[in-house]
Amino acid sequence: MKFQEMIGQQALKDHLQTAIKTGKTSHAYIIGGEKGSGKKMLAEAFAATLLCEEHGQDACGVCHSCKQALNHNQPDIIYVSHDNPNQISVDDIRQQINNDIVVRPYSSSHKVYIVDEAEKMNVAAQNALLKTIEEPPEYAVILLLTTNIDAFLPTILSRCITLEMKPVPDELVKKYLMQTQGIPDYQADMSVNFAQGNLGKAVMLCRSEEFEEMRTDVVTIGRTILDKRDYEILNYVQMINERCQSKEEKKKSVDRDRVNEYLDLFRIWYRDVLLYKSAGSQARLIFKDEKNHIKRQAERRSYASLNHIFEALEDTRGKLNANVSFELTMELLFKAMKES
Ligand SMILES: [Zn+2]
Repeated sequence: MKFQEMIGQQALKDHLQTAIKTGKTSHAYIIGGEKGSGKKMLAEAFAATLLCEEHGQDACGVCHSCKQALNHNQPDIIYVSHDNPNQISVDDIRQQINNDIVVRPYSSSHKVYIVDEAEKMNVAAQNALLKTIEEPPEYAVILLLTTNIDAFLPTILSRCITLEMKPVPDELVKKYLMQTQGIPDYQADMSVNFAQGNLGKAVMLCRSEEFEEMRTDVVTIGRTILDKRDYEILNYVQMINERCQSKEEKKKSVDRDRVNEYLDLFRIWYRDVLLYKSAGSQARLIFKDEKNHIKRQAERRSYASLNHIFEALEDTRGKLNANVSFELTMELLFKAMKES
């Protein structure tokens, strides 16, 4: 993994590569960004470069250390794991970082700890880590990867350099999808627009049959909901509920990521309707192949009703985060979409 192979994130790459060049790397970094934004890729490129036997500004990719890094068996890159999927405990931090960090690097000049999902550290775990971050051994670098920077104690934040992943420009994402992944133009467009600068998400969407299914659902509901009766709306709720049931676990639970993707797709659908209504043009529509239906919706809906839908979509996210019943929340959302 090399900096050079990463798409976008130029400012962050420059920052880290300059730090490596001038020997001014920090002992602790927070790398923040949503799922799929490339946090791990950046962390791994940084780690591999720090340990590379060529000591350049990027990993050479061919030395023994780089090969080990690529295969995830470089002994001086430590991936901190946690058994409880919902929490990183104080024991995890003590055993895998605090007790290990005192041992000098096995074969390199540095020892790099990568803590993924670091927002899952509880307060005790963060306090345990704090002791290490306050007085780290000279060779240690700790990388905290997180989707939520706000989850850290101020004392942790103040001792880390925070790097935030930025959206990758759409044209770079599209080029990558088409040239590297072989995705056709029309499909790349939809994924690029939906992913909003998140490269990992764009790639995932292109390969996802589920995404196509979700898109079809959103189009079906978006086209017809104005003319549906209450019991038919409940059928839609039921359909989305079934689609969003988590497949990984046996117990019944809703797959949050999936729900959020549905909400995003609805937002894009109604954004298209608003765009058509205000600009009267189809040039920038994301649901390009639905332009006739978008036009029809734009004619039938007022600005106030569209605003009401955008508010309802935001409201829905808040309610689901607050664990309000999924079916009830979706029913309220669809009823808001039905009111014209
Ligand atoms: Zn190398």
